[in-house]
Amino acid sequence: MAESRLACRECHHINHGDAQACDNCGSSSLTEDWAGYVVITHPERSEIAEEMNVAEPGGYALKVR
Ligand SMILES: [Zn+2]
Repeated sequence: MAESRLACRECHHINHGDAQACDNCGSSSLTEDWAGYVVITHPERSEIAEEMNVAEPGGYALKVR
């Protein structure tokens, strides 16, 4: 089986495919329908992080539907 990861609709954090809630914000609004994996290492220095309201380093989806 292919691993499918789940993106959080609230904060765009990428979670494991078997996650029931977001590791980052605790939301249960997770979706397989996302695109554009981006790793943010220094949110305080990243324009993308600012646009996405990302405060914690980690893997995020650029687009979540
Ligand atoms: Zn989240």
